[in-house]
Amino acid sequence: MNEAIERAAQLRRLLHQYGHEYYVLDAPTVPDAEYDRLYRELEALEAQYPQLRTPDSPTGRVGGAALPQFPPVTHVVPMLSIRTETDVTEQGALAFDASVRRELGLDADDAPVEYAAELKFDGLAISLRYEAGVLVQAATRGDGATGEEVTQNIRTVRQIPLRLEGDAPAVLEVRGEVYMRRADFDRMNERQEAAGGKTFVNPRNAAAGSLRQLDSTITASRPLSFFAYGLGEVRDWPAQPATHSGVLDALKAFGLPVCAERTVARGGAELARFHAEMGERRNTLPFDIDGVVYKVNSLAQQRELGFRTREPRWAVAHKYPAQEALTVVEAIDVQV
Ligand code: NAD
Repeated sequence: MNEAIERAAQLRRLLHQYGHEYYVLDAPTVPDAEYDRLYRELEALEAQYPQLRTPDSPTGRVGGAALPQFPPVTHVVPMLSIRTETDVTEQGALAFDASVRRELGLDADDAPVEYAAELKFDGLAISLRYEAGVLVQAATRGDGATGEEVTQNIRTVRQIPLRLEGDAPAVLEVRGEVYMRRADFDRMNERQEAAGGKTFVNPRNAAAGSLRQLDSTITASRPLSFFAYGLGEVRDWPAQPATHSGVLDALKAFGLPVCAERTVARGGAELARFHAEMGERRNTLPFDIDGVVYKVNSLAQQRELGFRTREPRWAVAHKYPAQEALTVVEAIDVQV
C-alpha cells in the first residue's frame, strides 16, 4: 500500500509537470506515448485504490491552466477531453459500441447504433463564438471551464469566416481544431531556421505556439488551418439538425471548413472498418492525425448518455498501433 501511495504521488507530480509543459508552455519534454503510459498507470492505481484519488489528480481534469497574459473566457458549455480507447486493434471499436449499447439499455435484437466517425486532428481546440452570424470571440480550451481569449489572433486565420453564410442562429459556438498542414509546417520551420528563429518540434506545437501569441502580426505570418467538429453554446437555431453529422453538414453550409474524411457508421464493425481505412491512408493525408474519433450520431442519444468528470460517454478516440510503436521509438531517443 505504501508503495502504491508513493508511486501515485510520483505519477501525479510527473503528469502535472508534463501537462504544464504541453498545455501551457507548448513545449513538451516527453513524447505523448510516455505521457499516456504514465497516465494509464495512475488511472489503474486509482481504480485499484480509490482512496488514492486526490482532487487535484490529472485524471480528473482537462488540459492546462489558461495563461494570465490572455483575458479569461468562461465556457458556458465546457470543452472536454475525449476518452482514449486503450485497445488499438479493431476490438477497440467493438468495445466502444458494446459500452454504448449497454448504457443505452439496448438488447441484441435492437437496431445498430449510428455513429459519426471522424479524424482526430492533432492541433489545438478552439471555440468560435458567432452572434447573429458575426465572429465576436475566440477562445482556447484552457482547463475546459476557463480558456484564453485569442480573438485577434483567430481573425488572422484565413480559413475561419468572420461572418457566416446563410441564416445563422442568434448564438452559435463552433468548436474545432486549429492545426498546421505538414507542408506548411516544413516551409515555416525552414523559414524560421534561415532567419535564426525558433523552430518547432511538430505541427501541433507549431499551431498551439502560433495561436497563443500576444502579437497577432506573428500569428498572421504563420500558416494556420482550421476544421470545425462540434458545437458549444447555441441559441435560437430552429433548423438545428438532430444528428452530429447533420450539424457538421450545416456548419459546412455556413462556410466553415469541415473535413471531408468522415462517415456515418452503423454498429461497431463499420467503425472498425473506418479505423482500418483511415489507418491505411493516414500517411497520405496532408496533416497529422493522432487517431480517429467515434461519436454517437443522434444528439438525443448523446444527451441520454451524458458525461463523466472530464469526458463525454458518447465519444471515444481510437489510435493506431503503428503510431504507438513510432512514439515508443521516439521515447527511447529522448531518454538516451
Ligand atoms: P485529447 O487531445 O486526446 O482529446 C480531446 C481533444 O481532441 C479536443 O480538445 C480536440 O482538440 C481534439 N480533437 C481533434 N479532432 C477532434 C474531433 N474530430 N472531434 C472532437 N475533438 C477532436 O485530450 P487531452 O486530454 O487534452 O490530451 C491528451 C493528449 O495530449 C494525449 O494524446 C497526450 O499524449 C497528449 N499530452 C501529451 C503531453 C506530453 O508531455 N507529451 C502532456 C499532456 C498531454
